[in-house]
Amino acid sequence: MSEGRVAVVTGGTRGIGRAISEALKNKGYKVAATYAGNDDAAKKFSEETGIAAYKFDVADFAACEAAVKKISEELGPVDVLVNNAGITRDTTIHRMDYQKWDEVIQTNLSSCFNMCRCVIDSMRDRSFGRIVNIGSINGQAGQYGQVNYAAAKSGIHGFTKALAQEGASKGITVNAIAPGYVDTDMVRAVPPNVLEKIIAKIPRGRLGKADDIARGVLFLVADDADFITGSTLSINGGQHMY
Ligand code: NDP
Repeated sequence: MSEGRVAVVTGGTRGIGRAISEALKNKGYKVAATYAGNDDAAKKFSEETGIAAYKFDVADFAACEAAVKKISEELGPVDVLVNNAGITRDTTIHRMDYQKWDEVIQTNLSSCFNMCRCVIDSMRDRSFGRIVNIGSINGQAGQYGQVNYAAAKSGIHGFTKALAQEGASKGITVNAIAPGYVDTDMVRAVPPNVLEKIIAKIPRGRLGKADDIARGVLFLVADDADFITGSTLSINGGQHMY
């Protein structure tokens, strides 16, 4: 049944998002991958995968509206939305300026409202939708130096449960995935000595792979997952059992 369904993956050109975009395409979805500004990565991604990339800022509601309209005209109405785009601006609160707070809240959390608001009417009209929001282990457990990121990701988990209740009677499921530490550019920015200590705390003894998260998305968007809504799937190698 996935054949021909339209899936939008925000931040779908790199890292975890790229793995999700490719996994969905391999299952027969028509995929639109979005990105913010890294044109080189997006071009390479589209050349290598054949998936169209759409450039806009997920923190900008009007830009999301315009992009969803364009994607719907080009590929069809959106059946699956994966809110994956995210950033970090890490530092302790006594060094954090308002901009670092606001950028992370807007990009990681308000983006979920923006994108969901833009697809929800059409999903309701068609009585079908699958929404997966990418949270984080650090939204579940908190993390030193990340009050902005932990607040945004924790917010995603609450947002997911509320929207799941609203969507259920309309055939729309809404779930979250809380990845642990996954080997992407985001985690490569963590200093090696800090990363070593993090890996030592992962019972599976390794970082996650982007594909580990993509497989979780495939599971949650499948027709067979119809009875799963409002849940958070932790994919973290056992680092945090919540
Ligand atoms: P990457 O930094 O590797 O990729 C981020 C993607 O998001 C890029 O495609 C980027 O576009 C896009 N993006 C960033 N800001 C915006 C914006 N304002 N508008 C549109 N697109 C944007 O991230 P990861 O793959 O590591 O992370 C993906 C998600 O998983 C994030 O939400 C992250 O918080 C979450 N996560 C990651 C973990 C990890 O260990 N890596 C752990 C837990 C959660 P561009 O290429 O143009 O910059």
